[in-house]
Amino acid sequence: LVSRDFHPEPTVVEVGAIKIGDGHPPVVIAGPCSIESPEQMLEAARIARDAGAQILRGGAFKPRTGPHSFQGLGEKGLKFLRQAGDAVGMPVVTEIMRIEQLDAVCRYADILQIGARNMQNFDLLKEVGKCRHPVLLKRGMSATLEEFLAAAEYILAEGNPRVILCERGIRTFEQATRNTLDLSVVPLVRELSHLPILVDPSHATGKRSLVAVMSKAALVAGAHGIMVEVHPDPAKALCDGAQSLDGEGFGRMMGDIRGLLGYL
Ligand code: PEP
Ligand code: MN
Repeated sequence: LVSRDFHPEPTVVEVGAIKIGDGHPPVVIAGPCSIESPEQMLEAARIARDAGAQILRGGAFKPRTGPHSFQGLGEKGLKFLRQAGDAVGMPVVTEIMRIEQLDAVCRYADILQIGARNMQNFDLLKEVGKCRHPVLLKRGMSATLEEFLAAAEYILAEGNPRVILCERGIRTFEQATRNTLDLSVVPLVRELSHLPILVDPSHATGKRSLVAVMSKAALVAGAHGIMVEVHPDPAKALCDGAQSLDGEGFGRMMGDIRGLLGYL
């Protein structure tokens, strides 16, 4: 179902008036790693909108490496995300970690995100496959491209064709970056599948200074968009501050991207 052989026409995923896929301008998803408060979320939403992003992100259920790290605000966070999205007129995307969260996440979010750590949570994939919401599926940190596409297949096989893939870096021997951004999967996905493919340069690099340049590289490679972490005050972020852009940095990056789009 995910293969171009069976489905030669590119899939364009529509979220309200926004179209993600071939033949449409690249989409930019921006927002904080975690929803921390209504004020932080609204401020981040304004930064995202003012700079020209189309979709707002924010995590309420956070898959943290250690149990003592901030785990997210849960359902309360979903409300803050929805309120911020409505205030600025942007659709919102948030991660779902467990099947039990499906009702709440579907109620508050426009797009469901499956995180890298759950890419092969097959029961969860089947459940989101039964939903009507678009699904942003992130590549597992140790998943081959074949496994990534097989995970998407689970969602399509249950009847939900609205899948957006997202490359977010893979584990390699390299320690200089948080993960290694595997940009070659972007053109490869475009060859093998009809599904749209985004790139998340924030989790891929772990470094604020690399986010803008890798975003541009992703778009040159043919990505249908990017997902970037943006925080009003990255130094105070409860999660992933080192890879988060502030308003100024994000605004500058969006200016660069607008310049680049004329050449693509
Ligand atoms: C995220 O986007 O919030 C996230 C946790 O990313 P990943 O699943 O790619 O690590
Ligand atoms: Mn994060």
